[in-house]
Amino acid sequence: MRRSISLARRPGVVLWTNDLGEFLFLNKDESVALSANKLTPDQTRYLDVEARGMLSPVGPAGGLADTVRRTRKSFLMEGPSLHIFVVTLRCDHSCQYCQVSRVAVNASGFDMSREDAVLALDRVFESDAPALTIEFQGGEPALRFDLIREVVAQAAAHPARSGRPIHFTMATTLQLLSDDDLGFCRDHAIHLSTSIDGPALLHATQRPTPSGNSWKRTIDALARARDIVGHDGVAALPTITRTALSQPKPVVDTYVELGFRSIFLRPLAPYGFARKTQRSLGYSTTEFMSFYETALNHILDLNKRGIAIEETTAAIMLRHMLTPFHSGYMDLRSPTGAGLGTLVYNYDGRVYPSDEARMAAETGDQRFVLGSVADDLDTLLGSDAMKWLARGAIAEKQPDCLDCAFVPYCGADPVHHAITQGEPDAPRHGSGFCEKNMALFHLLFAMLTKRDHDTMRTFAAWAMSRERDTVQPGWIEQ
Ligand code: SF4
Repeated sequence: MRRSISLARRPGVVLWTNDLGEFLFLNKDESVALSANKLTPDQTRYLDVEARGMLSPVGPAGGLADTVRRTRKSFLMEGPSLHIFVVTLRCDHSCQYCQVSRVAVNASGFDMSREDAVLALDRVFESDAPALTIEFQGGEPALRFDLIREVVAQAAAHPARSGRPIHFTMATTLQLLSDDDLGFCRDHAIHLSTSIDGPALLHATQRPTPSGNSWKRTIDALARARDIVGHDGVAALPTITRTALSQPKPVVDTYVELGFRSIFLRPLAPYGFARKTQRSLGYSTTEFMSFYETALNHILDLNKRGIAIEETTAAIMLRHMLTPFHSGYMDLRSPTGAGLGTLVYNYDGRVYPSDEARMAAETGDQRFVLGSVADDLDTLLGSDAMKWLARGAIAEKQPDCLDCAFVPYCGADPVHHAITQGEPDAPRHGSGFCEKNMALFHLLFAMLTKRDHDTMRTFAAWAMSRERDTVQPGWIEQ
């Protein structure tokens, strides 16, 4: 099926896409002719349109087209690959935007039991995904490093592993990890991801600690972790609040100064406890996009000057737009990644289809509970909650998405729509998810139309996960 949309940022330019993810830009006259199936071989763009299989409204079928379709949706053939263990809700930080209802370090009843962790591991290995990722989250998971050691050891030796690779990740402030813990992370390839919100004052304000030296503790912990696990063994993410919106370049420059090679610029999520702080910390999509565009242009300029740093949101979308491969990013999957790609094992033994669903549950919305860690995978995936979410699980079946030219690159995210609008199949137009993605696709496609040599080279490198000096921008120029 082919679809079209006028590019908001490029008057007179119409983007055409098809189910295979092919795209091209036409002017209005060409677009009108194609819509009426009146494009003729003597017209200049006829061959371009034909080469992308867009002469027919139905699109190409069979052979190569089926292979491309299968490649774009290859995740469909696999069970859940991302398994999140919430080993504790306890945390020593009190971040302004905390989404997970953290509890005090000395609170009791908020840790995962050893028995539930062992049951959760059985669920992990019931999945037939060819590669598995186990992510440790909290609260602050370092407070239960004893359990993490046990899960890692048991996962390696699990009888249902069948030689499959297991990747381990951990979202942590780093500050409570001992040198011995970090040595364990190095020895078992546990990739660490920490939070750095930008320049020192911004970070310290948003992520306060009782001792009041949040920035210094973060930087010292980063240096110590890198010494032990290696420089590339630690990644970082910023949370973009209203305060951060006025500092796009300082946020990016902080990441460059700290030697990170990527930065993931995402708007604040409207989930869990963050909803209560939305009024003081939140902002509109328009305000976020103004921040994002300045930051992205700054990042592109840095890359042009030889400073390699990737913006992850753009990299994910460009991979969908410029290659036949999916990025693996769960929020931009159709069918959804919730439950089908991700399972979350909460500290209390409940199982959720995504971290956002777990966050919603922490504030009283229990509609997303799939069951308990004691239920087998088939029971969890056949639960009433999954059947309910299925109504909004396929983007191509949502009335607003059906004709959207961005749908080959977008996702369904029924959990977001159920949380923010009440139902998983709520209208997409006007939802925060759709607004943000639509704005980002408009921006990125408008940038592609300009064919700036340096931008194209950086975009090609990000889409293909390659070093910038190894790609040729001509690969993606039209
Ligand atoms: S969510 Fe919005 S941008 Fe994404 S495919 Fe649907 S209508 Fe298009």
